[in-house]
Amino acid sequence: SADYRVAVFGAGGVGKSSIVQRFVNGTFSDNYVPTIEDTYRQVISCNQKNVCTLQITDTTGSHQFPAMQRLSISKGHAFVLIYSITSKQSLEELGPIILMLKEVKGNAITEVPIVLCGNKKDEESKREVSKALGEKLAGQWGTGFIETSAKNNDNITELFEQLLAREKKRQLTL
Ligand code: GDP
Ligand code: MG
Repeated sequence: SADYRVAVFGAGGVGKSSIVQRFVNGTFSDNYVPTIEDTYRQVISCNQKNVCTLQITDTTGSHQFPAMQRLSISKGHAFVLIYSITSKQSLEELGPIILMLKEVKGNAITEVPIVLCGNKKDEESKREVSKALGEKLAGQWGTGFIETSAKNNDNITELFEQLLAREKKRQLTL
């Protein structure tokens, strides 16, 4: 299909919407706006000569019903799992999502692009999760890893570049 579907998961307040808004619109807001699920579209290049539509779904995180999470997972081609480096709890909350990903994707999970993302790296004084721990978990889970700041526009494009680079069935570039 010409669509490439990416779902963004993570606990409330980690910066899912901020990362998606920063990537799609280049904007950032300090105001917390609990969102409803929304999908953003962007044209990207596929296999050198063609284009396809990158669809990014900003999920509502823990407010999403398990049945909806399951649906987002079964429809999705690639996944961004976000925690905040200022909250160990937010990292722990990704555990059930990883389990559901493995359950829904089955053996194909090894070919599914997933990046673990520690957001709010600008808040160094409030850090609760070391970079080493994030890297270690990503290694265990077989996912990519990056630390970002939606606020400072740090590593946001790189996050999506890394995700697309993990797709081996087509060559996707921003
Ligand atoms: P979501 O619930 O995961 O969608 O989180 P939001 O994107 O709504 O962000 C929650 C709060 O964290 C908001 O007040 C944002 O301004 C703030 N925030 C998001 N990203 C960053 C970041 O990289 N650094 C800092 N310092 N704050 C952030
Ligand atoms: Mg949100």
